[in-house]
Amino acid sequence: MTAYPSLHMIIDGQPVAGGGRRTHAVVNPATGETIGELPLADAADLERALEVAAQGFRIWRDSTPQQRAAVLQGAARLMLERQEDLARIATMEEGKTLPEARIEVLMNVGLFNFYAGEVFRNYGRTLVRPAGQRSTVTHEPVGPVAAFAPWNFPLGNPGRKLGAPIAAGCSVILKAAEETPASALGVLQCLLDAGLPKQVAQAVFGVPDEVSRHLLGSPIIRKLSFTGSTVVGKHLVKLAADNMLRTTMELGGHGPVLVFADADVDAALDMMAASKYRNAGQVCVSPTRFIVEESVFDRFRDGFVERVGRIKVGNGLEDGVVMGPMANPRRPEAMDRLIGEAKARGAKLHTGGQRIGNAGYFYAPTVLSEIPLDAAIMNEEPFGPVALINPFSGEEAMIAEANRLPYGLAAYAWTQDAKRQKRLSREIETGMMGMNTTMIGGADSPFGGVKWSGHGAEDGPEGIMACMVTKAVHEG
Ligand code: NAD
Repeated sequence: MTAYPSLHMIIDGQPVAGGGRRTHAVVNPATGETIGELPLADAADLERALEVAAQGFRIWRDSTPQQRAAVLQGAARLMLERQEDLARIATMEEGKTLPEARIEVLMNVGLFNFYAGEVFRNYGRTLVRPAGQRSTVTHEPVGPVAAFAPWNFPLGNPGRKLGAPIAAGCSVILKAAEETPASALGVLQCLLDAGLPKQVAQAVFGVPDEVSRHLLGSPIIRKLSFTGSTVVGKHLVKLAADNMLRTTMELGGHGPVLVFADADVDAALDMMAASKYRNAGQVCVSPTRFIVEESVFDRFRDGFVERVGRIKVGNGLEDGVVMGPMANPRRPEAMDRLIGEAKARGAKLHTGGQRIGNAGYFYAPTVLSEIPLDAAIMNEEPFGPVALINPFSGEEAMIAEANRLPYGLAAYAWTQDAKRQKRLSREIETGMMGMNTTMIGGADSPFGGVKWSGHGAEDGPEGIMACMVTKAVHEG
């Protein structure tokens, strides 16, 4: 059985802990018990990390693609070897089921291997010029990156935040969520053990606002990469503006799902009900607002409720559990508030709607229908195990509802009409779209949103390019 490791930061390749630093208690959300004490950075730690990141950039920007590929492939191999330990630690920290945590390891393995190939394809351009003159456009690594990763994908988020800068030739200071530090440290350790120079990637933890102000206020940092809520994202973009930093912002969503009468409704139900409750709904691309054509509304709602009845909730380490607890006490509090307000405004509760047990942060998988559009839950990202199912009449009204909110991260549609599929692909304001599928990612595919869901993409060649700047050199 994997033991929960002792916690530290990694600055200049060294574990940093103790020394009278403040600490944060890491809690297992399935039990409510403290499992670790995380040291938090003081200003001197952050200054040291910045100096080292400046050195790391000078080292790594001159690395060959072969060196970068070897580190990324080596780290991928190590993650695979350590898959079971990494997955168990992620489940202990975040609550998701072990099979889901194992998939996060595989996501990182796939991404690092993809990037290992992509580092060779950093092509520039030669411009057409008169004889004797030459103009070239090249891509260069942007510089040291400050990267902030949230708790909902304890392994996958740090993998994205570290993988792209390292592939691009940047250095990176990662501040992963204080709730899930050991998973992030596990991913970074695989890179260091695979031969990444110790100055290139470091991990700090702290009081989030202190760390982000300090790092983003330093002239050493050249890029901000953030995944988290839109509120915090807007705050960080404002801080980043003072130093005119490049930014990649992967923020909140409120995933619309359009279900038309011509859809394969059973397939939609099977896939959407499974997808909705993955990680207890704490997924930025979670399907949330079900916009169902009137004639199939009753069938869809009843089929959804029936499938939810089969979800086994429990400790994610136990076999057969389909949904674990929520990750922290803020989430069940948010569920109570949002669901309570929706009910008070006349929404119908079909199942769930309350916490489970006295220990940990369990919340029952919930289905609401006929929710007024001005209820808070129809406008604020619920980030929890709740499906919101409303009837609509006609394609135009359904598209209008999908585009009603300022978010645009992931959208889903279920229809067998090929012409409608084309119209929806064009009309829905979203960064990612699943047409008759829930599979909207992949190492080779850009992952990111539009509008208040952010800008810039992770994964795919776009993820590396987001850590690059262009330079045009004209020789006369
Ligand atoms: P939050 O808004 O306080 O924090 C979100 C993330 O940002 C956390 O990881 C946190 O450590 C970090 N953060 C907060 N303030 C920061 C700062 N000043 N500088 C740097 N990082 C900072 O909320 P929360 O309670 O942790 O999460 C709830 C909300 O966050 C959800 O409702 C959801 O909208 C959003 N969220 C989104 C994602 C995503 O994948 N896009 C992931 C986790 C949380």
